[in-house]
Amino acid sequence: MGCQMNSADSERMAGQLEAMGMAKVEDPSKANVVIYNTCSIRDHAEQKVYSYIGPQADRKRNGENVALIVAGCVAQQEGEKLLRRVPELDMVMGPQYANRIGDLLEDVVNGNQVVATEAAPMMEDSTRPRRESEVTAWVNVIYGCNERCTYCVVPTTRGVEQSRPKESIRKEMEELGRKGYREVTLLGQNIDAWGRDMEPKQRFSELLEEAATVEQVERIRFVTSHPRYMSLSVVETVAKHAKLCKCFHIPFQSGDDEVLRRMGRGHTIEQYLKIVKRIRELCPDAAITADCIVGFPGETEEQFENSLRLMEEVKFDVVNTAAYSPRPNTPAATWDNQIPEEVKSVRLQKINELGKQHAYERSQRYLGRVMDVLVEERNVKRPSQVKGRIEQGRPVYIEGNIDELKGKIVPVEIIEIGAYYLVGKQAGEAR
Ligand code: SF4
Repeated sequence: MGCQMNSADSERMAGQLEAMGMAKVEDPSKANVVIYNTCSIRDHAEQKVYSYIGPQADRKRNGENVALIVAGCVAQQEGEKLLRRVPELDMVMGPQYANRIGDLLEDVVNGNQVVATEAAPMMEDSTRPRRESEVTAWVNVIYGCNERCTYCVVPTTRGVEQSRPKESIRKEMEELGRKGYREVTLLGQNIDAWGRDMEPKQRFSELLEEAATVEQVERIRFVTSHPRYMSLSVVETVAKHAKLCKCFHIPFQSGDDEVLRRMGRGHTIEQYLKIVKRIRELCPDAAITADCIVGFPGETEEQFENSLRLMEEVKFDVVNTAAYSPRPNTPAATWDNQIPEEVKSVRLQKINELGKQHAYERSQRYLGRVMDVLVEERNVKRPSQVKGRIEQGRPVYIEGNIDELKGKIVPVEIIEIGAYYLVGKQAGEAR
């Protein structure tokens, strides 16, 4: 359909499919892959597409093995609306993906419902799931970020937020579960923003509710929460469902309101502590982890000390720290109140010492307890041991055979602790 550009795109797609060993059939009702490369220049283009898809969707509903794809300008324009209206569709892809149909089709074959309409570079960076592990998997739920933190390059490199439809996330999780993955981590730069770009708007807590009903997956984590948007209903939902891990990663970035304002974070320490309080009330054994930047432009000694004060108050399980470093095309990089490297380095050392002390204190609560550990891999440093994690995220090492224990949940008595790890012995049947 449509202009020469569209015809050229169709040829490119056909070429790639041929290279994958496919051949054209004259009768669309016999095809295993059906692609409509659409044009939106005429009125009622969408209606036309729906009328074409109808008979193919019927084939799919009748159990035929057929992948249904809408490409081109209507796909770009309608995006996930097409998926909502025709759930049988496997892929909706904008024109900029014509030369990547081979890769995208692989996702479809793996059981994913794909929406490829965002700015092209994002597909390469973030939609290819990490599948290095056979036990745990990442699932992207939202791409891009609409925030404008003054130190961060993400909004310019990854574009605006685009939430994945709930049905497609669910489908991917179910498929992973069927393949034997026991843990899934839902991913987003600002995961609490999930659903706000949808019509009607949806809330991340609703996605968590849905995810918790996916029977095939036993543990669900999510990152990264933003204190400005994280609603208390997220905490309540996590508290309610056993398979939602009691582990919250909520960057605070600075313990000082003035620094937060200049960072463009849009939250205050008071708001942050309100979330922490609710977590402690509803999930008293939860881990709370965070990120913090030291030496942000203009940060005074007193403002830095406020970050340490916040840490004393919360006692984080882990704080990932970084000395501020100017990133290209970010506002803070152009400010002239940069902090000298030596000062940043002293602050970094100080905050890391405190973080480690708190992490050790937090590890102590596990000593002598029997914790469920999901075994992921061999301990590369000591091959007689395997490594797994408790739901709070701490790595645990136990003696054991990886071939027998990989992917199993093992009750483990914790007999030794470090700031950032635990050591234990098997205390029951692996399952
Ligand atoms: S720091 Fe996070 S929330 Fe802020 S702009 Fe970057 S990705 Fe978005």
